[in-house]
Parts: sequence; C-alpha cells; structure tokens
Amino acid sequence: MLHEIEGKFKDECGVFGIFLNNPENDIDAARTTFYGLYALQHRGQESAGIAVSNGRRINLYKGVGLVSEVINAQHLEDLKGHIAIGHVRYSTTGESGLVNAQPLVFHYLNGMVALAHNGNLVNTVELKKRLATYGSVFQTTTDTEIVANLLARYSQDKMEDALAKCMIDMKGAFALVIMTEDRLVGVRDQMGIRPMCIGNLNGNHVLASESAALDTIGAKFVRDVNPGEIIVIDKDGMRSQQVINSPREAHCVFEYIYFARPDSTIDGINVYQARRSVGRQLARECGIDADLVISVPDSGTSAALGYAEEADLPFEEGLMKNRYVGRTFIQPTQQMRELGVQLKLNAIEEVVRGKRIIMVDDSIVRGTTSKQIVQMLRNAGASQVHMVVASPPTKYPCYYGIDTSRREELIANNMDTDQICDFIGADSLHYISREGMRDALQKSYPFFCDACFSGSYPIPAESVEV
Ligand code: SF4
Repeated sequence: MLHEIEGKFKDECGVFGIFLNNPENDIDAARTTFYGLYALQHRGQESAGIAVSNGRRINLYKGVGLVSEVINAQHLEDLKGHIAIGHVRYSTTGESGLVNAQPLVFHYLNGMVALAHNGNLVNTVELKKRLATYGSVFQTTTDTEIVANLLARYSQDKMEDALAKCMIDMKGAFALVIMTEDRLVGVRDQMGIRPMCIGNLNGNHVLASESAALDTIGAKFVRDVNPGEIIVIDKDGMRSQQVINSPREAHCVFEYIYFARPDSTIDGINVYQARRSVGRQLARECGIDADLVISVPDSGTSAALGYAEEADLPFEEGLMKNRYVGRTFIQPTQQMRELGVQLKLNAIEEVVRGKRIIMVDDSIVRGTTSKQIVQMLRNAGASQVHMVVASPPTKYPCYYGIDTSRREELIANNMDTDQICDFIGADSLHYISREGMRDALQKSYPFFCDACFSGSYPIPAESVEV
C-alpha cells in the first residue's frame, strides 16, 4: 500500500456538511459536498460517502475508494435535497471496507439520522458494554456506530439535549457532523483535538474539517467550532450550545506538522505559516554548514522553505514526487516493493550532485523511508546528507484518531538520535525541540496535544479496542 511505502502516520478522516436555507437555491447540496470532500481527500482515501436529506427522508451513497471513484454524476443527480453531509475515511478504529464506510444512516424514535465522524473515542469498550446491556447490537467496528446507539438511547430527548448527554458520555477525540431530515449539527470534542470549522456560502451554513474545503467551494470562513460546542443549523438559522467548558484545549499538533493542508487555517493558525515558522526555528537550532536545502515533498516543503530563508541558503527541488500514485495503486510485487520509496520519489541528480544537502521532512516514524531517501540522494551524487525533522522524535502512539505505528515500531522509541542517524545513514540528524516547536507555533503546550512526542496524553485512554 501507498502508506506503507510512505512510512508516515496515516491520515484520519474528513467531514463536511451543508444546509441550504432555501430549497429553491441554485446551489446543489450533494454536489457542493462532493467538492468539499474532494478538498479533504488528503484526510482519508479508503472510502467516501454522501448523505442528503430532502426534508422527508435521507438518501445515501457511499463506497470504497477515492471521492471521484465512489461518487459519479448520476449519484449526484439522484442525491436530491437541501441538507447534505459527507465523509472521507482512512480506517483508524474499525477495519476498512464498505461496512465501515460513512456516513452511517439509521432510524430511531424521532426519524432518520446520518452521522459522519472524525476522531477516536477512548472509552469504547466501556460504552459498548453499557449499550449492550440495553440491547444494542453492533454491525460495524466504528466508533460512529457507538455514537449512533448512544443517540438512540437518549431519543426521548430533543436532538440537542440527546447530543449533550452523548458528549458527556463520550471520551476522546471527535468532530461529528450529524443530519436529521430537517437539520444539520456539528459537534466537537471538549478539547478540540480534531478540527472543525463553520463557513458561509451565500448565506448558507457549511461545516468542514478544514478551512481549505470552504475555500474550494467558494464559502467564507466564519469561525472554528469551539471545543465542547454543539452547532445546530435548521430553517431558523444557526445556534450554538456550549455543552462542556474544558479547563484546557488540546488541538492535535500533528495537524500543523503533517495532516492538514497548508492552505487551511485551524484554530487561528495557518498551517503553511506554522510549518514555515517551524523551519525557521529549526535553522536557528541546527546551524548546519551546507550548500542547499531540499524537502521531502510535499509535507516537508513549507518547513524547508522556512529553513532556507532563515539559514540564507538556496531551496531547490532535489526530490520529485509522483503525484499520480493514488489509493488504487496496484499492490507492488516483491521486486517492486524492494524498490520501496523510488515508486513515489526520485532524486534530481543535476540538483544534488556534489552538494552538501539539508533535507527537511515533517517526521520520522519507522525510519525505513528516511533511510531509503538518504541512500537515493547519495546514489544521485550528494556529498553530504543532513536530515532535519520538523517535529520532535515520535515516541508514543496516538489514541485520538491517527493511525500511528505501534509504540515498539516507532524508531525514536527504540533508539536515540545518534543511533537513528546511523540507521538512516545520514551525516547528521536534527529534530526540532519541543520548546522550539512551541515558540515557532507561538502557543504554549496546553493549547496543543503533543502526546506522540511527550507521552503526556490529555485524555487517558480508558478502554480502547485494538
Ligand atoms: S497524539 Fe499526536 S497525532 Fe494524536 S492527537 Fe495528539 S498530537 Fe495528534
């Protein structure tokens, strides 16, 4: 799989929702959701789906694959209605496949509900046990189904009250979009671990995982959904309920380092500027004598530009990425697998030959990919390769919706920096310090979750199914 070749933390999920105030509006809810999901494709490539309400019932189309593979023009024609939600998925909790594709649509006491979820609950075992004693049965292995069952359990209450009770029960990271026949709801966990923002498209409300999706459909950014807040949008407009006031926030710092699009702004921080600032900080911390700076494209590029700027060195494209390797990439044969990263990246010999290279990447997970890239640069004639990493050593797994390797597979859990440098075959290896990253992002750590570097988990993982 592509991700195995990349050796990166795996993306999570993306959610999108739109409510059209006027059903006669010439904006098409399903089509807009399609383009919103298209903009969020980097957050999940295994399945995609769109559910639409016409005010009387909810229709759904979902499948395994990229948004453009799953949803075609005929599906969009068939998905008529004025409210829509959509989801792109990379499997974290639950196996991949159609059964776990979202949105999930179900009937409960008050009608139909569609749910799409980004994140991971950390008390799923306890919640499932509790729900099972009330007679709940589970068809999928997703957290989303647990949320659906919780919602059904509180169906005597009106939707906002039921959701408020669910929020108190649910521990962990979640950004949810929920649709009934007549309303759209957005919910964000109490620490804001996973992102969600609100947009306005010609007077119509939109919810999205990232602001880049708003730009793509021509919507204006309104604000982020606050941690612990429920946003309800119906024919009377938008209203907010602040259900939980957490003493701290814990926005996932990896969104800024790697996951999110550089053109997104999340919780007041533009991702591109954050990465560039981290690159500048790295240059101040490292002080390496070299000829040029290159990046491992694409997620290392903004930081590499910042590094080059601060170090007053040229930035060049020393590695070229094949941008057309998609999810449907045919499983490589053993011989091709051995080629590893070359399927995805190639060095430009004319750029790197005879040069002392600083190579910037966003993170090192297992180290095998970095090792191959360093070797690739040496084969192309680089005289020195210094690896610079725009995050601290990744030592701990994530329980909040990011598919990290297991702890024992994380190279920084097993080796110190010098040993990792030897393993990847670089001339030197530098990680940004935690303090440096905090300074670069201009926020103190309680604003962020950085548990995969620090082991300091903002929400204890009480009972996680693995
Ligand atoms: S543990 Fe790491 S990847 Fe997971 S939410 Fe925290 S910062 Fe993000």
